[in-house]
This record gives sequence, structure tokens and C-alpha cells, in this order.
Amino acid sequence: MHDKTLAELARGLDAGEFSSRELTQHLLGRIDRLDGELNSFITVTFDQALAEAEAADAARAKGDAGPLTGLPLALKDIFCTRDVKTSCGSKMLDSFVSPYDATVVERLKAAGTVSLGKTNMDEFAMGSSNENSFFGPVKNPWDLAAVPGGSSGGSAAAVAAGLVPAAMGTDTGGSIRQPAAFCGITGLKPTYGRVSRYGMIAYASSLDQAGPMARSAEDCALLLGAIAGHDLRDSTSVARGVPDYLAELNAPLSGLKIGLPREYFGDGLDPEVEAATRAAIQAFETLGATVREVSLPHTHYAIPAYYVIAPAEASSNLSRYDGVRFGHRCDNPADLIDLYKRSRAEGFGDEVKRRILIGTHTLSEGFFDAYYKKAQQVRRLIRQDFLDAFEEVDVLMGPASPTPAFDLGANKDPVSMYLQDIYTIAVNLAGIPGISVPAGFVGNRPLGLQILGTHFAEAQLLNVAHQFQQATDWHRRRPAFAEETA
Ligand code: GLN
Repeated sequence: MHDKTLAELARGLDAGEFSSRELTQHLLGRIDRLDGELNSFITVTFDQALAEAEAADAARAKGDAGPLTGLPLALKDIFCTRDVKTSCGSKMLDSFVSPYDATVVERLKAAGTVSLGKTNMDEFAMGSSNENSFFGPVKNPWDLAAVPGGSSGGSAAAVAAGLVPAAMGTDTGGSIRQPAAFCGITGLKPTYGRVSRYGMIAYASSLDQAGPMARSAEDCALLLGAIAGHDLRDSTSVARGVPDYLAELNAPLSGLKIGLPREYFGDGLDPEVEAATRAAIQAFETLGATVREVSLPHTHYAIPAYYVIAPAEASSNLSRYDGVRFGHRCDNPADLIDLYKRSRAEGFGDEVKRRILIGTHTLSEGFFDAYYKKAQQVRRLIRQDFLDAFEEVDVLMGPASPTPAFDLGANKDPVSMYLQDIYTIAVNLAGIPGISVPAGFVGNRPLGLQILGTHFAEAQLLNVAHQFQQATDWHRRRPAFAEETA
């Protein structure tokens, strides 16, 4: 059961081959046996999961089952969950229990899904390797010496290892697509505003977006349909109808115009990653698409602009963790300033502190125009690059990451870590959607093909990804780690 997609599991539940309770119990057993090594979960909700599974089985017995009823999933520990700890990967929130559910969580519960727990992540979603978690690094199930990617590394590793068929992630600069690529699964970052951010702990509010991480594009379509849509509690969620993402999956790709951004195949791209990416793109030509080169001329400004904008927003968002209102509070403060200082010094890890310092600096008087305003102007140019490219082609394709998963501990210098996100970060600055699909290996480490579309083109991306998955079997490969010998 543990290597099936959501769509396959749904058919099994419908046919009465197994119950949601049996499925849930099987996966909880695997988490119990395998996750000690992987560390992909921060919290496993054993009892709640079984209760939700029983409720789902009862609904099904009454004929009340929807397409997701009884299907297990996991939530990145950035989504607020009532009665279950939400740590955001930080010591600061190690004892925080939200009084409400995030909209994404509320909608998934309403759809009848069963949450198995909360997955590990880089602290406050800052990172590309999951090594910045207060709860320790996550290992990549394909190679335990490698990182799973970040910041949604726990979600990606759990799906890849067969602990759960799907998980929710968030993506501010690549955190769904890059771990999906490193772990050989499918991950979709929707258009900014497509999914409500209410109850999703804020990192950089103008960039953050939630999305599904699963074993296939079809599963991502199922989940996006459940979580997308306007929410009165998030004024940046867009009041626009949610299409039936499953309806378009089988549309043929003949006539599809694919653009390959020249800047995504240049210096810094691992030659084996390039070869595998180009081979994957050839499969689309067989399916009737045409391929041409395009240019996104401001690509090399994306990382510098992001590392001004994201820390600026983070320094503002994280000011609420002051030892008074939320989370960690130091012992025996001498006075209020001591309380603030020590609570924050003790509660935050190094990367979070680094970003608060950078963000506070770039927003300070005298530097705001030079850094923050300039970065926003560059952001506009980056967005325009994409809009211009989508005048010429339907979708863009390239590698999700310049290298396969790197070794744990290999990227000690923060700037070399930041450069990992070269192909994903501009997408968030522009607000467009992107999906990473499994597309090959270097040795035993998976690679992701990234497919980008214009604003609200999720149905098209899912269609293109699904057609690729009908023609290839990269997404069906499973790591040896997922096979229990005992
Ligand atoms: N790696 C990027 C960062 O550290 C992106 C993280 C994310 O998408 N949450 O900010």
C-alpha cells in the first residue's frame, strides 16, 4: 500500500480492498520503524490519525465519501493545527499549540483526509537542505548521506520513503520544488494568491505559497483542487474560480510551445544534470511539443533581490516572537529589554538571526532606498522577463536545481547555499506557478525537471507534467530504503 499514489489508494478504498484505518495503521507502523533514521516528522499524531481514519471509513460506509476521503497525508510543521504543536522547525515555537487550523488544514480536513502528523523543516522555512531545523537534519531516503533539500525536506523525504502518500509544503524561493527534485517526487508551487496563507506561519509574506508534494502530477491536481480558492481571512488570496484540475490532465500536448531559458543552462549547471534535463525535454518533442530557446535576461539578479526582500519581510514578520506573546520565554528576565533580547537569542537559530539582521539593516533609514526599493524594482524586471517569455511560448522548462542532492554538511557557507536556488527563486519573485517532476538520476540521487507557466496556469502545468508521467516512469522509482527487509 505504501508505494501507491493517492489516486490508486482512492480506488483501493472505493473497491473495499482495504479501509482507511488499515491504511493509516500500516503507514503509522512504517513511520514508527523507519523515521528514527530519517527524522522526517517532528510530531506524529497516532491517535488522532486513527480517529480521523475511522470517521472516514464511517462516512464511506454511509455513501458520503468524496475523492480524498480517508486518504492519509502529512503537513509541514508551518501550518497551524488546533490541538497539535506547530513548531515551524524552531525552538522558539517548540511549545506552541495554535488555537485554530490554517485554511489549508481546514480544507483538507473538510475533504476527509487523515493527517499523520507534522513534518520537519528548516527553521521558519529558511534553508535549502533541512539542516537548519531545531529538530535536527532530515536524511534523503535515496542516499542517507545526502540532504533531502529544503525547506520542506521532511515532507519530501516522508513521501519518497513511503511513510505517507502526499504532504503539504510551502515555497518562498523553492522550498517545494527543490526538495521534491532531490527526493524524486512531484511538487507544485501554485501562483501567489491561489492558496490561502491564513494560518501558515509567515516567512516572507509576498513570496510564501502553499502547495502539494506527492508521487504524481495527478495527485497534486487532486490536492490543489481541495486547497485552492479565495479565503476572506487572507486578503492576498485571489477571488477567482478554482478549475477542475483533473479535467485537463489528459489533453494532448501536440502544438505545445516549450521555451528553454538560456540562463538556466549556463555556468554552474552540473553537466550530468544538464544531459538528463535535455533528455527529459526530448520526451516532450515525441509527444508533439516544439522546443525553442528563450531568454530571461535578469535571472542573475534574482538571488540578490530575493536576499534583500525575503529577509526584510522576515525581520518584520518575526518581530512578533518577543517572549511575551508567542513561544519561548527566557528564565528570570531582569527587565523588559532583557526579556526580549534573551528570549530571541535563545529561541532563534543562527540562520534566522542572520536574516533578521540583514532585513533590519536593509529596512533601516538611509538604506531602504538603496536596498529594499531597488530590490523591488529589480523584482518588477524579473516578472516582466517571464511575461515576455510567455508571449512566445506556453511553458518554460529547465532543471529544478543545478546539482543533485548534496551531502549533509557539504554547504557550510551561507552564500553557496543561497546559490542553490538559482532556478527556483525568480519564480516566487514573479508570482508564477512551477512544478518539479522526477526526470532522471545522477548515480542514486534523483533529479527534477522544473516546468513553469504564467499566472494561474496550474491546470496547464499539471497537464504537461501528467503527460510526461504517462510516457516515463521516473516518478514510479522507489528508494531501496522504502523496502523493509524485516
Ligand atoms: N532556500 C530559500 C531560503 O532559504 C527558499 C526557502 C523557501 O522557499 N522557504 O529562503
